Amino acid sequence: MSDSLVAPTAAPARHLVSPSDLDLPLVESLLALASDMERQGQSPAQAPLRGRIMASVFYEPSTRTRFSFEAAMLRLGGQVISVESAATGSSAAKGESLEDAVRIIGGYADLIVLRHPEIGAAERAARVSPVPLVNAGDGAGHHPTQALLDLYTIKKECGRLDHLRIVMSGDLKFGRTARSLALLLARYPGNQLTLVSPDELRLGEDVRHQLHRTGVSIRDERDLSAAAAGADVLYQTRIQRERFASVTEYDQVRSVSRVDAALMRRLPEHAIVMHPLPRLDEIDESVDSDPRAAYFRQARNGLFVRMAVLYWLAMGT
Ligand code: ASP
Repeated sequence: MSDSLVAPTAAPARHLVSPSDLDLPLVESLLALASDMERQGQSPAQAPLRGRIMASVFYEPSTRTRFSFEAAMLRLGGQVISVESAATGSSAAKGESLEDAVRIIGGYADLIVLRHPEIGAAERAARVSPVPLVNAGDGAGHHPTQALLDLYTIKKECGRLDHLRIVMSGDLKFGRTARSLALLLARYPGNQLTLVSPDELRLGEDVRHQLHRTGVSIRDERDLSAAAAGADVLYQTRIQRERFASVTEYDQVRSVSRVDAALMRRLPEHAIVMHPLPRLDEIDESVDSDPRAAYFRQARNGLFVRMAVLYWLAMGT
């Protein structure tokens, strides 16, 4: 890594649990650091995290988040220990509490990346963790590193993070990525959020309340096609089957708001389509070849952003 790579100077939060751990200067320096990581290539020569160990502890399935965190750590010269089905493949299966598991793992690793199905689990874990802990998704709570990589993608694709018209669609109630992203977008001036979801999947009052306090413009809209016509960014999300009590409840809302060829005709030429992935049928595969489909580029950006986050947390302690 070149000498020009400077760790963010803003006061570090020891843990990254929710968007409230990220003030604007810190967001900006992490995005700049991610961009440095991308420019320097995937394997910075100086391997700045050589000798450090990251534990990835996932109680819920993951492809992008776990692999990109692990790849990020390896590319920074660090090492990884991991459990990918912690609910059954760790002592959680014997009844060990999350807190005890984190206390123990924190004795072996220098950083912990945790995914858990319960809202608030990362906060509970961070309270007892002896080492920096990153929330890689806590149920329908938050997913701050996804929100950072979403910002990184928007900045790269649209050239700015302010004065944008962002349409968020799909499952805004359980969709932790949309919840976290809305809060980070509200830090920038002039952004307008249009929320498209069925009543059952409306963005929660907890996030709305925080958004109102920032003064960001929010509008609820039923018709995705109408909303898309005025969008700079269309952020589509998956209806999360695993969060519904029954298949019947899921089936009632699953097919709302599809992004397909007709919808793409309504979307401005300069706009982009994002999705945290995995996608089911809420984006038709025919959209993939449209240059405005940014979701695979977005997933790749996760590597650079997670390299930046790991570097910041490891160097800040
Ligand atoms: N991968 C994202 C998450 O973990 C979105 C999703 O699962 O639909 O929240």
